[in-house]
Amino acid sequence: MQQLIAGIHKFQQDELGRYQELFHRLSREGQNPHTLFITCSDSRVLAELITQSQPGDLFVVKNVGNIVPRADVSGSTNSTAAAIEFAIQSLGVSDVVVCGHSLCGAMAALLEGLPGQESMPHLREWLEFASPVRQLIERDYGYLKDPDARMTAAAEENVLFALENLHTYPVVAERLAAGTLRLHGWFFRIATAEMFAYDPATQQFQPIQRPS
Ligand SMILES: [Zn+2]
Repeated sequence: MQQLIAGIHKFQQDELGRYQELFHRLSREGQNPHTLFITCSDSRVLAELITQSQPGDLFVVKNVGNIVPRADVSGSTNSTAAAIEFAIQSLGVSDVVVCGHSLCGAMAALLEGLPGQESMPHLREWLEFASPVRQLIERDYGYLKDPDARMTAAAEENVLFALENLHTYPVVAERLAAGTLRLHGWFFRIATAEMFAYDPATQQFQPIQRPS
């Protein structure tokens, strides 16, 4: 906690100056983020840092394993759905990014189970939404023996599964049909801090290129 409080002081002393006008403007005009960014709660994945975004740029949802349940999952288990509806319907974002990452504990738990999971019923129930990913890995990736490679495959397939599930939301389907929304599947490699984007043409995650 001391670290957080020291951080707040440091921010107010050293950084706030160059952000003050931006925060003022955002408080006057409200937020108008361009992107809904859905990523994992993992402490190593910082959406704003790795995309160099400013306050007001991203509407961020972090959940365990960046899972997007289908639209027919209702109730309190699907707070991600609430964020999807709000960001697209009310804020009118033009882009949705689902960003998975390497060494994802949620993917390891999905594939191998979790020690002590009997005492984590909410986590177990949550991960079950991604059980089709586990089945896919078991069915199609049997040749991958290395646990890290299996975890990476699961993280990538989980991103594609989340994009597929996004299509089940009426507001997403509507905006896609109108051409006013774009979906993106990304993968962040922690060790090198590299970002990859799914390319439907090659069906591969490719390093994100500098815009030309
Ligand atoms: Zn994760």
